[in-house]
Amino acid sequence: MPYPINIHSFPQAILHLDANAFFASVEQAVNPELMGKPVVVGKERGIVTAVSYEGKALGIKRGMTIREVQKKFPEVIILNSDYEKYSLYSIKMFDILKKFCPIVEEYSIDEAFADLQGLRGYLHQSYETIGLNIKETIKRALGIKVSIGISLTKVLAKIASNYKKPDGLTLISGREIHRYLRDLPVSEVWGIGPQRAALCEKLGIYSALDLASASEEFIRKHFSKPVYEIWLELRGIQVYPVVASTKDQYKSLSKALSFVPTEDKEFLLAQLAFNLERACFKARQYGLLAKRLIVFLKDEEFQTHSFEIKMSLPSAYPKELLPLLTQAFERLYKKEVKFRQVGVILADLTSKRVFQLSLFKRDHSNSQGCLETLYRSVDKINIKYGRTTLVHGVCLPITKEKPLKKGSSLKIPLLSINLT
Ligand SMILES: [Mg+2]
Repeated sequence: MPYPINIHSFPQAILHLDANAFFASVEQAVNPELMGKPVVVGKERGIVTAVSYEGKALGIKRGMTIREVQKKFPEVIILNSDYEKYSLYSIKMFDILKKFCPIVEEYSIDEAFADLQGLRGYLHQSYETIGLNIKETIKRALGIKVSIGISLTKVLAKIASNYKKPDGLTLISGREIHRYLRDLPVSEVWGIGPQRAALCEKLGIYSALDLASASEEFIRKHFSKPVYEIWLELRGIQVYPVVASTKDQYKSLSKALSFVPTEDKEFLLAQLAFNLERACFKARQYGLLAKRLIVFLKDEEFQTHSFEIKMSLPSAYPKELLPLLTQAFERLYKKEVKFRQVGVILADLTSKRVFQLSLFKRDHSNSQGCLETLYRSVDKINIKYGRTTLVHGVCLPITKEKPLKKGSSLKIPLLSINLT
C-alpha cells in the first residue's frame, strides 16, 4: 500500500497507555495474597466489571453475572468495587506518565494518550526505551501491568497498545503500518462502531488495511467526515491532537448518599460526615483544597435544602470542616421531617501547591502542615484496609443497622478511631 508520508521513523509520535484488567490488578497490587489468582470485581452490582488475567484464562468475561461465576467457578475470588481506590491508582499512574511526558491526555480511568514529539532528544532515549521505562516504573511503584503502544497517530497508537496484552510494548512505524492493519477487523478500529463496520462490509472493506488502502475519492464518496478522519489517522496523518488534561476539570467535587427516608438526626449527620470524608479524600488525592463547602439534604418530597459556607482558609481536612458541617446541618435539619439523601460539595477547588506558596510564612501554614501529615497517614491506612477503617467519631452511627437503598452499601469499620 502506498503511504504518502512518514515512511521514515517517527517525525511525530503518540503513546497510548492502557492498564490491563485495571480494577482487578489494583486489588491484586493492594493485597498480594490475590496475586496469581482469578479475581473478579463487581460483587455489589451483581455483574462482573473486571476480571484478572487468571480469571480471563478460565473463560470469565466482563458483563457475566456474579451468580453465574459463583456457580461455574467456585474457586474465583469475588470482590466489591472500590472506585476511590481505583481512582487513586489512576492518579498515581498518570502522575508517573507525566514525569516522562509533559503532555498527557487522561482518556479514562485506565487509559491515557501522551505526545512524545521532541522527547527523544530531550531524554536522550529512543521511543522504545521511553515506553519501557514508563512501564517498568509503573510496575515497580504500583505493582500493576500496563500495555503501551507508540505510533504516528492516536488511532494507530491504540491499535499498537492493543496488539500485545498484558504487559505489552508495541511500536508501529510508518513503514510497518500495513503489517498491523492486515489482520485487524475494521470493526476493531477506534471510532468504527458496529454501524460503520456494517457499512464498510457492504462496500467490501473487512480489515483495517482495506480501509486504509481505499482511495480518498472512495472514502469521501461513501463515508462521513469522522470516517475520513480515521482513514487519515490509519495512514499516519495526525488529525486528533493529544489534549492535555488539567486539574480545572475538578472545579468541584460532590459526594452524596441515598437511603430509606429517615428522621434519625444522628444517622443523618453521620452520613453527611462520611460524605465529607470521601469528598475530602478525593480532593487530597488530587492535591486540591476547597474554598467553599455546600451541604445539602433532600427530604421525602424531593425538596433540596442547602447551606453554603465560605472558608477563611481553603481546606480538604475533615478535622477543620466538620464543625462547619455540623453548624450547617443544625440549620437545615427539621424535626419530624424525613430525609432521603444527604450530600456535600467541595467547591472553588484550588491547587494545594499554589495556595501554600501564597501563604508564605503565615501562622496557619503550621497547623495546615500538621493536618497534611496527619491525613497522609490516615489515607495510607484507609487505602490499604478500606475507606471506613479510620473515620471521625461522628461517622460511627452509620454502623447502626439502617436499611440503605439498593445498590449502595457501607462496610462496617474494622476499627474506628476518633480523630477529633
Ligand atoms: Mg484497560
